[in-house]
Amino acid sequence: MSDFDLALVGFGAAAMSLAVRLSAHYPGRIAVVEPRPLPLDDQTWCGWRVHDHPFIEQVERSWTSWSVRYADEDLVRSSQRLPYEMLRSSAVQQRALGAVEIRDDWSYLGGVSLVDSALEADSWRLTLSDGREISAKRVMDSRAPTLQLPRPWVWQSFIGREISGPDLDGSGPVGLMHFLEDDEPLLTFVYELPISDSRRLVELTRFTPNRPDRAELASALDRLLEQRRCGGYTVKREEYGNLPMAPIAPYDRDGWMRTGTAGGSMRPATGYAFHGIQQWADQCADALIAGHEPAPPGRQRIMDWLDGVFLESLWADAELGQAPERFMTLFRNTPPESLVRFLMSQPRALDLWGVLRALPAPPMIAAAGRYSLKRRQLACPTQA
Ligand SMILES: Cc1cc2nc3c(=O)[nH]c(=O)nc-3n(C[C@H](O)[C@H](O)[C@H](O)COP(=O)(O)OP(=O)(O)OC[C@H]3O[C@@H](n4cnc5c(N)ncnc54)[C@H](O)[C@@H]3O)c2cc1C
Repeated sequence: MSDFDLALVGFGAAAMSLAVRLSAHYPGRIAVVEPRPLPLDDQTWCGWRVHDHPFIEQVERSWTSWSVRYADEDLVRSSQRLPYEMLRSSAVQQRALGAVEIRDDWSYLGGVSLVDSALEADSWRLTLSDGREISAKRVMDSRAPTLQLPRPWVWQSFIGREISGPDLDGSGPVGLMHFLEDDEPLLTFVYELPISDSRRLVELTRFTPNRPDRAELASALDRLLEQRRCGGYTVKREEYGNLPMAPIAPYDRDGWMRTGTAGGSMRPATGYAFHGIQQWADQCADALIAGHEPAPPGRQRIMDWLDGVFLESLWADAELGQAPERFMTLFRNTPPESLVRFLMSQPRALDLWGVLRALPAPPMIAAAGRYSLKRRQLACPTQA
């Protein structure tokens, strides 16, 4: 049995972000366990670059403007200082695989999954799907959690297609949320990345209490693309996800830490995780290199509370058919950089004030009351 200082269970965004930071300076031995064949061009990670990160060279495109649209209103917001950037999972994976490869003392265990674990004295014995066993003093586990999401929390379910064609305009802003009128709770919108003059990612997204069937989402996207026609296009690839818009409690016990989405890195009100993971990875790598105990992804109570109130207000709005208007109000009334820092979980005090002032007081106070009462009965979702 091989012994390691650290086992990374799952080589997704969180584990890769950590490995890239550790490969030059961490003295310990690392095992990486990942069942999927990598690299895979099946996810696009976007967000506003509020801080630098080690994947700048993997940024394929960035934009200084983004739009939100509902009914006749098309709001375009901009910032030169805080661009919205796009990274392909395959590019990040190539970079991270390279970081693992340069370490002769690390082991990349690809094509296998973790099937069992047991704590023995001061280390974990991990059993892999091919029957191998390894031991590790510390485990960072990013496997997806099994969750039930009670109101106000919802799933962000989406299917996206990267299409290619001669008439796709790459010069416009990112289409962040272009709301559609439909009867699905709570709301539905189209997310569009104009990657270039011949490439575009078009995603149909729902904030929904129940994860929709993938085929049903796919046919709704088919209809949308058909309506738009997009000048004749070919589908290059598809991406699909169900992101838990909920505060996942940190977990760090006996040397076993949950990381990434499973550890609470995803922002409940937005589903953004990649840039939050970068900040956790900075701190975690610094601690490990210095020989200190690393901390799990941090949660700010105030942000969880605000997200809970905001989502609770969306449920009430949705009953009145007004959920998109809540987002339009937020984007219309908040200074763009304040809102961006807020969405990326890095607000300054004035940003928080700007966001709070942007939203109408009566429905938000009512939502705060309902959420505060309900919150006592709600446990944070955790892995089953
Ligand atoms: C299609 C898609 C698009 C997204 N777009 C954005 C975006 O634009 N911006 C943003 O901020 N966030 C986005 N996200 C959300 C989030 O950033 C990603 O889900 C990100 O990958 C989360 O990283 P993670 O490390 O927590 O989990 P993952 O990247 O999902 O990594 C978990 C890993 O665990 C592995 N695994 C599973 N079972 C086992 C097992 N038994 N043993 C070992 N390994 C196992 C999986 O194969 C996987 O590689 C998106 C998510 C999806 C699905």
